[in-house]
Amino acid sequence: MEELAYCGTSDAAALRSRLKRCGGEDWNFQFSCRTPACATCRGRYIGRQRRSAIRRFAGHENDDLAFASIVIGATAHVDEIGETFAKFRKDLRNVVDANRRHRRRWNGLEALLWLETDALSGDDYVHLGSDKQAQLGEMAPLFVRDSGPVWVVTAHGIIARPGIDYQEVAEDFRQRWPGTKRVDVRPFYAHQTKEQNLGHTINYALKHECRTHLGQFAEPWPVGWMAEYYSYLNRWSRGFQSTRISISPRDIKSTKAPSSTYNTSNVGELEPLPFIYSDSVFHTYYNWKDRT
Ligand SMILES: [Zn+2]
Repeated sequence: MEELAYCGTSDAAALRSRLKRCGGEDWNFQFSCRTPACATCRGRYIGRQRRSAIRRFAGHENDDLAFASIVIGATAHVDEIGETFAKFRKDLRNVVDANRRHRRRWNGLEALLWLETDALSGDDYVHLGSDKQAQLGEMAPLFVRDSGPVWVVTAHGIIARPGIDYQEVAEDFRQRWPGTKRVDVRPFYAHQTKEQNLGHTINYALKHECRTHLGQFAEPWPVGWMAEYYSYLNRWSRGFQSTRISISPRDIKSTKAPSSTYNTSNVGELEPLPFIYSDSVFHTYYNWKDRT
């Protein structure tokens, strides 16, 4: 929290004051700050998301589910992270809707994704693997920046795809988000239970560790970056809400008689939320390691 004082902006001050009250005696220990910067609140949030995902996907088999990761874009401006993610939400819904018009099997597709932000400096760039360098070069050609950071906006999460091959989903996403390894969709592991797969995916997607991965190494972000990022997030996102994307299946029967279960005109999003990272099964692909 001290780095927020160091940061000196009004956003940082607002976040600092919120974090200070979390679990404190001022509110009879009842106040939860619900900010992504708070380890306690993030831990609770991850637990809630895990329980809710297990309920949500209870009707699916392991085979119906997949892990998905999409590198959305890169920006040198911290306050463009939110709009980058919001645009992705719209684009993703358009991709799904377009498919539903032509292929009935896409009516059953569901998505539950969370924002993750990576950050790196111009100096870090030279230490990245060749794939990651190529990817960033495509998305952020003006990468060279002395002090950094460049913020890399990513979504990770779960796709339910009953009756759809995961490679079909990957191909369609790649058409919308082309470039070097920006899209990865892979089936859940058969040797793990659905609950284990969901748990690992959610831990991975939501454990925000603020580290830059360079080859075999991971360096913590400079405190100034953390303060800048979390201050921004506290201003932009309502708690964890804005950092999550949810797309529901389309209920075919209810398209004629709208049901209360699904909103068919605006398929999808409930409340959104935040993110990020772990040493789980998916680590090598998604961090800054070259995949050779
Ligand atoms: Zn808190």
